[in-house]
Amino acid sequence: MELARHPERDEEMITVIQYLQDFGPGPHDEKDQARCPFCKRRLLAKGFSTTETVEYFAHGPNSGFCPSKTNGVVSYGKDPPKNPDFGAAKELRRKFRTNWRKHCCKLQEIIVGLDWKEFTNAIALSNDRRIWEYAKLQEWQLPYIFATLTEFPPGNSYKRNGVPVRKYWFRCWFDAFVQSYEDMCSYQSDLQFWRASYNSKGKAKPKREQICKIRPLDFDDAFLKVELKENQPLEFVQNEVESWLNQHFSVD
Ligand SMILES: [Zn+2]
Repeated sequence: MELARHPERDEEMITVIQYLQDFGPGPHDEKDQARCPFCKRRLLAKGFSTTETVEYFAHGPNSGFCPSKTNGVVSYGKDPPKNPDFGAAKELRRKFRTNWRKHCCKLQEIIVGLDWKEFTNAIALSNDRRIWEYAKLQEWQLPYIFATLTEFPPGNSYKRNGVPVRKYWFRCWFDAFVQSYEDMCSYQSDLQFWRASYNSKGKAKPKREQICKIRPLDFDDAFLKVELKENQPLEFVQNEVESWLNQHFSVD
């Protein structure tokens, strides 16, 4: 990643260049190493010794799980629910069908420039992965799961005058102590949700070194309590999604 937490000032994010100005090229004592915002582990500054590469921060060898270490989507849902609750799943799907506009608006807030097809794609993926069946899953946690299920490249974003509204490639994840959706279900707002922006070149999947912006986002149910205006989301989005749900989302 191109940014990390300052070794001494926890709230401050620094680039490799700023780090090198303050701490020199090293080797560094552990206390002088920058830290990962997601797993809090110490990071190494890399790629600054040649003019060919971009500088970045990297985890040390054998540093354990961190969502930022993947070069793709974090596989939170690789295992199907251990103790599926089919009754709760049915109820959850019913609630979602009623409140889908709120979920769509929340996902638009997390994923800037969300296209309605990205929203329905996330619902389709949730069906494939049996997301609804996680026993303790709560309705308000759904948009956060939607945001972690897939990649959000700029090319898929909503386009204004033919130009994608989203400039960066987004991937989202939870704090590093969460490694599966099963884990996530146990947390309320005591968990940080993250959106990472990548500098992507063309359509190639960006690598972990290319994280250029990091945004902590609230993880809570506030969005479900807000009354939406009639035109939220936009009318054509409402029409397209309603039509998709009627065809692909049963609540029986
Ligand atoms: Zn990390």
